[in-house]
Amino acid sequence: MTTQTTLQETPRHESSAAEGNGHGYAQRVRGARGPKIGASTIIRSQDVNKRYVMSEDNYVDALCDATLEIEEGQTVAIMGPSGSGKSTLLHVLSCLDSATSGEVYLDGRRVDNLSRRELARLRRSEIGFIFQTFNLVSSLSAIENVMLAAEYAGKKRRDAREAARRALAQVGLSEREDHRPTELSGGQQQRVAIARALVNEPKVIFGDEPTGNLDSASSAEVVEMMLRINRETGTTFVLVTHDPGVAGSCDRVFHMLDGRVTNGNGREAA
Ligand code: ADP
Repeated sequence: MTTQTTLQETPRHESSAAEGNGHGYAQRVRGARGPKIGASTIIRSQDVNKRYVMSEDNYVDALCDATLEIEEGQTVAIMGPSGSGKSTLLHVLSCLDSATSGEVYLDGRRVDNLSRRELARLRRSEIGFIFQTFNLVSSLSAIENVMLAAEYAGKKRRDAREAARRALAQVGLSEREDHRPTELSGGQQQRVAIARALVNEPKVIFGDEPTGNLDSASSAEVVEMMLRINRETGTTFVLVTHDPGVAGSCDRVFHMLDGRVTNGNGREAA
């Protein structure tokens, strides 16, 4: 038996925010930075398919010819009903998972056919991640959590500490360097996770529902932090979200339905 992807209706509020009605947490000052003129493509997927196979007759086509282009330096939201393939797309674009077929390019380089070793290097040094559940190591302090990512990418301990200090300062947590995750609020924990994602100065930071576990005030704080970092460093942010406030704050919103991206340039839905 073939398992079909089950879909729910898109809540109405998702589509209205996704049309860029300016109801985001923070109003973007278009033109102050905004989409760069002649900006280059940082991420491109072409006809990407992903089939999860449980058994010979039981599979799910989570991505069907998913095609999109993301420009460097933008903030991007991926929205769509539950089960539409958002997380799978994020994982394939960020080299956490491989596609069944199709092409994925990161910063002009084809990445869907790289070896495991090359992918691991890419993930360590060129890509940052933020997760819904923060994924901090509970026995380590904020600075140790951030240092871990820097050391993993090859920095010596002293350099890793310096880089972690800078990253924590960027997210306004210099005063909390020695606090453990349990001694921080949810919003502060996510800011540590953003510092960890930033520490190796990646070109792109991917977030899977980064505000999904936060109350609305912390969520707004975290979104504003990401927008500020985007403006200051030019880091591209790609965020899967259900939150119309988050999507409304982004430069572009991609919609997904049945494993397809329905607006491949992130503008008007097709
Ligand atoms: P979304 O993030 O939009 O909720 P997902 O990308 O998580 O959607 O899932 C897309 C489809 O793929 C769903 O039908 C889901 O059940 C299925 N799926 C996701 N991960 C797996 C997996 N590891 N094995 C089998 N099916 C999966």
